[in-house]
Amino acid sequence: MKSHVATFIAGAIVATGLSAQAVPKDVASSLYQEAQIRGVLVNSVDDPDNCDFYYPAVVTRGDLQIAISTAGHSPALAQRIRIELEQQFGPEYAHWIQRLGDARRELFATDRDPEARKRKLHEIAREKPGMVYLVGAGPGDPELLTLKALRILGQADVVLHDDLLTPEILELVPSTARVECVGKRHNEQQVTQQEINRRLCEYGAAGQTVVRLKGGDGSIFGRASEEMDALRAAGISFAIVPGVTAASGAAAAAGVSLTDRRLGSALVFLTAQRCKGNPPPNWKAIAELGGTTAIYMPGGHEGDLARQLIDAGLARETSCFVVASASRPNEQVIETTLGQLPDLPTLPAPAILLIGTVRAKDTQTSLAHQNAGKERADH
Ligand code: SAH
Repeated sequence: MKSHVATFIAGAIVATGLSAQAVPKDVASSLYQEAQIRGVLVNSVDDPDNCDFYYPAVVTRGDLQIAISTAGHSPALAQRIRIELEQQFGPEYAHWIQRLGDARRELFATDRDPEARKRKLHEIAREKPGMVYLVGAGPGDPELLTLKALRILGQADVVLHDDLLTPEILELVPSTARVECVGKRHNEQQVTQQEINRRLCEYGAAGQTVVRLKGGDGSIFGRASEEMDALRAAGISFAIVPGVTAASGAAAAAGVSLTDRRLGSALVFLTAQRCKGNPPPNWKAIAELGGTTAIYMPGGHEGDLARQLIDAGLARETSCFVVASASRPNEQVIETTLGQLPDLPTLPAPAILLIGTVRAKDTQTSLAHQNAGKERADH
């Protein structure tokens, strides 16, 4: 029975909430001695003298684990090293270690020459796993990049960016990185989506750290899903780094909130550009939802869009903002109404429409209007 106890209670943690100096010496050491008599291993928190073992700082990437121990001398150093190793061994290693395992099993099953097999295994392990980051760069102001986007950009071997990227953001790309503009607008010879997918897979397979840099948030009207499909099919690791979308940048420029719980509960992101064969938006449903509609890529059709929304039932007085180059030095904001929108000159791209958003000064009027309607309905 006794031996069972010794087998099961293999370790103990002494945690008093006090610093090592504040715990009476005899308490800490007598706990340690008692544990030793019983064959129990002890970790006394922040008290290395009374420890049999230490908790290491650990970097985990799937089945790859790297543990760092300073034998209790400096958990702070262990933490620093962990952070450095986390950057050196990114999330791609989780996938990579699986691939190495598969390759090893396959070689053991097929290759009979142990020396050749060993050489091959070392060769594969020397390769660096490729990784593609789909990074949202925000609406243009470099300060609206996330810390993560900035860090990953600093590690890039290759950057493929679209037209929306500002020179200020591109300046943050390391000079050692290869930079390719794959935008649809500025290229004389347009780079097709298929070609972009192909390059992402090619660079990823060659072990490069690839940053696919997109304006705003890559998952909003950014063809990110087509790129992810291609990467998945090619077995290339990728990760998504979200960004500040143009609608958020535009709302900040206009000084409005995208939602106001007093006036509606919907926020619709819509694009005026459609993929061939896709049906037009259900304007009636959008008009009935209320709240705010952000229309991306208005492409000079602002007037038409306004007319369609009015036909679908939105009031001509509905508040509307046209915001061009949000968050950039040449930012322009025009406040208007849906009824007046067709008479305005179109703003240069990139521009976005925010419809239904209400300015603070208008909120009271809109609320009064809504409440009046409600009272009538109540009676
Ligand atoms: N993924 C991007 C949108 C890509 S579609 C995002 O999340 O923001 C491109 C459209 O985004 C442009 O036509 C324009 O409507 C809008 N856009 C992007 N940046 C903008 C900016 N700085 N100001 C206004 N609109 C912007």
